[in-house]
Amino acid sequence: MRTYNDRKRVLVTGGAGFLGSHLIDRLLARGDDVLCVDNLFTGSRRNIAHLDSHPRLEFMRHDVTFPLYVEVDEIWNLACPASPVHYQHDPVQTTKTSVHGAINLLGLAKRLRVPIFQASTSEVYGDPVVHPQPESYWGHVNPIGTRSCYDEGKRCAETLFFDYHRQHGLDIKVVRIFNTYGPRMHPNDGRVVSNFIVQALQGQDITVYGNGQQTRSFCYVDDLINGFLAFMAAPAEFIGPVNLGNPGEFTMLELAQKVIALTGSRSAIVHQPLPSDDPLQRKPDIRLAQERLGWTPKIDLDAGLALTIAYFDRLLSQQGEVTQLAA
Ligand code: NAD
Ligand code: UDP
Repeated sequence: MRTYNDRKRVLVTGGAGFLGSHLIDRLLARGDDVLCVDNLFTGSRRNIAHLDSHPRLEFMRHDVTFPLYVEVDEIWNLACPASPVHYQHDPVQTTKTSVHGAINLLGLAKRLRVPIFQASTSEVYGDPVVHPQPESYWGHVNPIGTRSCYDEGKRCAETLFFDYHRQHGLDIKVVRIFNTYGPRMHPNDGRVVSNFIVQALQGQDITVYGNGQQTRSFCYVDDLINGFLAFMAAPAEFIGPVNLGNPGEFTMLELAQKVIALTGSRSAIVHQPLPSDDPLQRKPDIRLAQERLGWTPKIDLDAGLALTIAYFDRLLSQQGEVTQLAA
């Protein structure tokens, strides 16, 4: 726990989102003063409602595509819709959020001379032809497809971070996050884990896209946040990019079967068309994080799914609230 003298003023953009709200919990627990900046596009005040009266948390509704003038000691840039359904809803705004958002926050970090963290993504590897994906892989990304607003936006943000580092000597930390799941995912954001769990709990058909043989590697949120904090605390010369994710690799059919077994659901599996440019495989090579941060994920998929199912079960049983959340 920090004391008054070494307390940090920390800015978290996207702090009312899934990952941002978990990060804020941990920053407050260690004694930081937190400024949460979010335009509430996909995030919700509900994700930080348990902190409403917290004396060290301040919320500011703001869109990071516009400049921000605040005084802080550290910046965590997480603002960006993360699910394909949400980032494809307004693709121009998605690219602006990554690119203009990065320019605005890097400008802020440069003025204040403070470290800045960027939530990048495994999507920078696109539909990878190298498997598993090490940080040295440059990726296989369609620049003009329906996922490009997100993939290329995040790639350009990485470029900006590294150019601000080279050109202006900024302290940067760039993490490439692989699929992460857990409590506070939006029940209606279209991501596979939340979709399957909500469908199973409600006895609806489980929608597997394509033949279900495409793979993903799923990291439980607590493991990921441990990696974030270890990375930000690492020596300034370790700037990344560094992969954070759980290397356990599963097909979407395997995931559907696990969710059915863990919920005891009678839902049937149905197949729907595979969205365009949907990567066929994805699995992080996490040797760099293991070597440099001593970090390794601890929570396996069954344990993490059980915790996430319990969360959605509670949420769905709160009558009326889900309709409100899903709106
Ligand atoms: P999320 O949608 O729950 O959170 C994103 C937050 O950013 C939301 O609160 C949203 O309202 C806010 N936001 C969006 N555009 C904004 C803007 N222009 N100005 C201010 N706020 C804005 O998603 P998440 O899963 O918590 O993802 C957080 C970050 O991590 C994102 O940058 C995402 O790209 C990255 N990431 C997440 C995953 C994952 O599996 N969860 C994987 C790779 C990368
Ligand atoms: N997917 C699926 N059914 C769903 C939602 C997603 O089969 O209801 C598939 C999707 O086609 C992709 C994988 O699950 O192959 C992961 O999708 P998600 O949107 O969670 O993340 P991303 O594609 O960005 O990894």
